[in-house]
Amino acid sequence: MKLIFLGPPGAGKGTQASRIETTYGFVQLSTGDMLRAAVAEGHEIGKRAGALMARGDLVPDEIVVGIIAERIEQPDCRSGYILDGFPRNTAQAQALDRMLESKGTALDAVIELEVDDAILVSRIEGRAAEAEGGARADDNVEALKKRLVVYHEQTAPLIEYYRKRGILRSVDGMKGMDEVTAEIEAVLGLSTKSGVATN
Ligand code: AMP
Repeated sequence: MKLIFLGPPGAGKGTQASRIETTYGFVQLSTGDMLRAAVAEGHEIGKRAGALMARGDLVPDEIVVGIIAERIEQPDCRSGYILDGFPRNTAQAQALDRMLESKGTALDAVIELEVDDAILVSRIEGRAAEAEGGARADDNVEALKKRLVVYHEQTAPLIEYYRKRGILRSVDGMKGMDEVTAEIEAVLGLSTKSGVATN
């Protein structure tokens, strides 16, 4: 299956994508993780992206589109993949459409994790407190709130974009982690018992 997990920062996309990867073998492709690795390695891309990421802005489309175009060609992606954090705006979604079309393939579904904004801000504050002085340069309240604004302005319009195509599946992201996973499996028609994907 080729999936997109869509939702604001703190909605649990990464956690859920990782769980689905573990159970079904669809590879989790997180542009955020890839960009953080590029920053850590001092890669040219990382030099361009680091400051933008630290303040919660998006990095240029050509960078992330290039990363994804290359990554989905890798052999491990043949068993399916979950795009986690990509696309983040309409231009990226259109670039993805062209990419998939040129390969004669298409997305199976877009999972939207619905989370209340007020809850997100408190999750974000919790995460920022946990990460204090720690792992992610953008895990501070200011940058995370900025990411939420950027999400509403640039990424949320993709909900309509995919709804119009009939591939949007909305899931209540405010439930417990296990319940959310179960709901995702249900809307995708995946079998949980055997751990084998139906598609
Ligand atoms: P994430 O881990 O998905 O929350 O992403 C962390 C940061 O990486 C974002 O705030 C952006 O600065 C950058 N980023 C990740 N994915 C994208 C994308 N698809 N387009 C632009 N910037 C991205």
